[in-house]
Amino acid sequence: METILVAGGAGYIGSHMVALLVERGYDVVVVDNLSTGHAQAVKGARFYEGDLRDGDFLEKVFSENRIHGVINFAAFSLVAESVADPLKYYNNNVGGATGILTAMKNHGVKRIVFSSTAATYGEPEKQPIEESDRTNPINPYGGSKLAIEGLLRWCDEAYGIKYAALRYFNAAGANTDAGIGEDHHPETHLIPIVLQCALGKRDHVGIFGDDYPTPDGTCVRDYIHVRDLVEAHLLALEYLDKGGQSGPFNLGNGNGYSVKEIIEAARKVTGMAIPAFVEPRRPGDPPTLIASNRKAEEALGWKPRRDLEQMIHDAWVWHKEHPEGYEG
Ligand code: UDP
Repeated sequence: METILVAGGAGYIGSHMVALLVERGYDVVVVDNLSTGHAQAVKGARFYEGDLRDGDFLEKVFSENRIHGVINFAAFSLVAESVADPLKYYNNNVGGATGILTAMKNHGVKRIVFSSTAATYGEPEKQPIEESDRTNPINPYGGSKLAIEGLLRWCDEAYGIKYAALRYFNAAGANTDAGIGEDHHPETHLIPIVLQCALGKRDHVGIFGDDYPTPDGTCVRDYIHVRDLVEAHLLALEYLDKGGQSGPFNLGNGNGYSVKEIIEAARKVTGMAIPAFVEPRRPGDPPTLIASNRKAEEALGWKPRRDLEQMIHDAWVWHKEHPEGYEG
């Protein structure tokens, strides 16, 4: 069976990718520096601990394994942190991508599926957003990912490395069968924070701004189940194998939910009160991000199948079973 290298495979989305590849019978190699990931989240793969910016380390990984394709999740991904420390984001994200592409070029590996983001669009002119819409990031996180998309385009032209840049909207949910889920320290994402309130681990959730130009004044996002998300990566690899054209693909549900709607949905799923109070806006947040997933559907044959209730339900099961995350 083909060997797939998953960079960042110890992280939230990466570990779900590994679980799916293992389930489908792939041979999986994970590289991760564990700066934000968890070794316990890597199940059924060969694990190399190290950094993508370390050329000797990657040389060893690529020499010891016959890599067919790469899926790269390794990155810092917090909008607010990126606003405070842009150099940290460009250094890690662009540096890591440069490292893995260099190893791919040196070893003749011709396919990469890359974690991009809806943050590449900035404040879009229309919703739902299409891949051909203008990209103009309003935070360094999105900027670092768009820079890598540019690099991928040049590497395709120069070295024939084919790529799919998957622009994620908001990943949520867990894999309750595999016992993996979302565990960030500190946690900044809305759904885990809301569920930590439901568990009694926080006393309230702050709603970051209610004066946005949206129906209820709170930010609207397109939430996508992590399992649907990783299924798209596998389809993207197959698409590239079949000679599909490199480029960006949105991965979202095509539905928007406001912060208030998420909190309300979590109250229903958990049966808990979940106190919420309006707080100031968070820097770098656009008001609304909703995906058009038409391109991913047409080109990759991808269709998200899990709704918001299922995302919150699966995340709730994970949080109840792992109240302290992987350390618990
Ligand atoms: N958000 C919030 N309170 C929180 C965490 C997040 O109101 O404690 C909002 C945030 O401003 C954004 C949305 O929830 O509009 C989703 O944020 P998250 O950090 O989950 O994902 P992002 O959109 O940054 O990728």
